[in-house]
Amino acid sequence: MKKLIVLCGMILMCAFTFAKGSKSIYVGTNPEFFPFEYLENGEMKGFDVELMEKIGEKIGKEIKWKDMAFDGLLPALQSNKLDVIIAGMTATDDRKKFVNFSQAYYTSTQKILVNEETNDIDSLESMKGKSVGVILGYTGDVAVSKIEGVDVKRYNGAGEGVMALKAKKVDAVVLDSEPAKNYIKKNTGLKLIDTDLDKEEYAIAVSKDNNELTEEIDGALEELMEDGTYDELMEKYFN
Ligand code: GLN
Repeated sequence: MKKLIVLCGMILMCAFTFAKGSKSIYVGTNPEFFPFEYLENGEMKGFDVELMEKIGEKIGKEIKWKDMAFDGLLPALQSNKLDVIIAGMTATDDRKKFVNFSQAYYTSTQKILVNEETNDIDSLESMKGKSVGVILGYTGDVAVSKIEGVDVKRYNGAGEGVMALKAKKVDAVVLDSEPAKNYIKKNTGLKLIDTDLDKEEYAIAVSKDNNELTEEIDGALEELMEDGTYDELMEKYFN
C-alpha cells in the first residue's frame, strides 16, 4: 500500500512538472565568436551569453549551456537536443525554412581579413584565383562558396582560420565584422577589408515546433530593449 501511494505521488509529480513545462532550457552556442560568446577560464562569457541569461530570468527558465561546433548547432536544434541557439547566428531565409527565429538583436556585415602585405585583395571579386578560409557553415562560407574560381578552405572555428591566414596557408579569411575586428586587435600583421555583401541580422533560433518558446523569447527581448538592459549590454561589449 505504501509503495502504491509513493508511486501515485511520483506519477502526479511527473504529470505536474510536465504540464508546467521544464524549468530549464538547453541553449547551444559556439564560444569562438568574441565578443558575442567566448570562454574565459573555462566559463561562457559574452554579449549573447548575458542577453540569454537575462531572457532566462524574464521567462523563468534556467539556462543550461551547450558548447558545440557552429556547424552542429542547427542539426542539434532540429533533433531536439537543444531548445534554443544563440550564437551570433544570422537569420537567413535558408535557415528560416528549418527553424524559428526571434526578432533581430544585432546587425552585422562580413569582412575580409588579410595579411598586411597583401595588396591584390580589395573586394570579394578580387579573391578569384586565391585560397580563402571560411568557417564551416557560417554565412561567410555560403557567400564565398558562390564566387567562382575561389579555392575555399573550410575550418571548424574562426581561431583556426585566422591561424591558417597568419601561417600563409590561405590568402584571406572572411568573417563577421565584430570577431574580425577583434582578431585585428589581438594579432599584429593583419588588416581588414570591407565587402559589399548585404547586412546580416543576428537572431535567436528556436525549434519550429516550439512557437510558445519563440513568443516568450520575443516578449522578453522586447522588455529588455525597453527597460535599458539591452542598451547597457551594447555599451558594455561594443563601446
Ligand atoms: N553570423 C554568422 C552565421 O550566422 C556566423 C555566426 C557564428 O560564427 N557564430 O553564419
